[in-house]
Amino acid sequence: MKRRKFIKKTTLAGIGIATGTTITACNNNLNRSASVNSKEEKQTMNNSLKPFPIAICTWAFTKANAKAGEELSNSKSALDAAIAGVEVEEENLKNTTVGKGGAPDREGNVTLDACVMNPQGDCGAVVCVNTITNVAALARKVMEETPHVMLAAEGAEEFGYSQGFKKENLLTEASKKEWEEWKKSPEYKPIINIENHDTIGMLTIDKNGDIAGACTTSGLSYKMKGRVGDSPIIGSGLFLDNEIGGAVATGMGEEVMKTVGSFLIVELMRNGMTPQAACEEAIRRIVSKNDRHKDFQIAYIAINKAGEVGSYCIHEGFTYMKYQNGVNENVKSGFVL
Ligand code: ASP
Repeated sequence: MKRRKFIKKTTLAGIGIATGTTITACNNNLNRSASVNSKEEKQTMNNSLKPFPIAICTWAFTKANAKAGEELSNSKSALDAAIAGVEVEEENLKNTTVGKGGAPDREGNVTLDACVMNPQGDCGAVVCVNTITNVAALARKVMEETPHVMLAAEGAEEFGYSQGFKKENLLTEASKKEWEEWKKSPEYKPIINIENHDTIGMLTIDKNGDIAGACTTSGLSYKMKGRVGDSPIIGSGLFLDNEIGGAVATGMGEEVMKTVGSFLIVELMRNGMTPQAACEEAIRRIVSKNDRHKDFQIAYIAINKAGEVGSYCIHEGFTYMKYQNGVNENVKSGFVL
């Protein structure tokens, strides 16, 4: 077979796999609906069998995922819901890994990173933001109101104020105290799953079947000044293609960036892998190349256009949230070690 023909054939096969499940789900829905009589019965049946809306997010961020699910159920768009969801954690002062109250860098500055993507494939990101809490919403503004994809530090902050974002001190008394304690014997050491880093990455599919995502973090606790991880980097912390699906990452950002993990997962799904198989392969690439993988955690979650979900991580202990059909559940991820 000529190369061009082969590529065309395999691409179509890939699309067939990705959309085939959606078609099956819809057909099942129609067939079963045909056998019920009353309007109410049909309504219940349709609701209970609908694959969408769906919201998934990293870790046990129950309230954030529930918020996204609620927004989606109220017919909000996938992007509106993802941003409303992650804002719950950005504003949670007790969460020391996302938003206000996040652990600072070595100098005592809390710096936030975030990115968003919409179903059209547009994206926005902000890095090293020191004075604004809702950085996912700020990343959206970068996407929608500027000709750029990413703004950093003061540039992002000044743009934020011009868009009505409030200037705030992000360092809470509690985070300041912990940082002062850390300074007594300063050492950066990730503790697997009790991480000093737990980003929220969220993927949503609205009732029209459109996919969006948001990823927001305060990064590694006590990181070097100016350090930026994978979370705001399109393709690493987050990537989606509305035709195929999406993926988000959490864990040691330096290692995610080396394999452009979220982009990799979406491309593997494009070529026919399930979200689960794609997450496993993305983790395998990191583990197989890196002897130090026992010392850090990385986890991926992914969703495809049919609403199938997958997840994989290096160390046992990672869980994620899944909202579908009014149920918001915490799911254990598969793992290597
Ligand atoms: N990936 C984030 C970073 O490297 C941290 C995390 O998700 O735990 O900044």
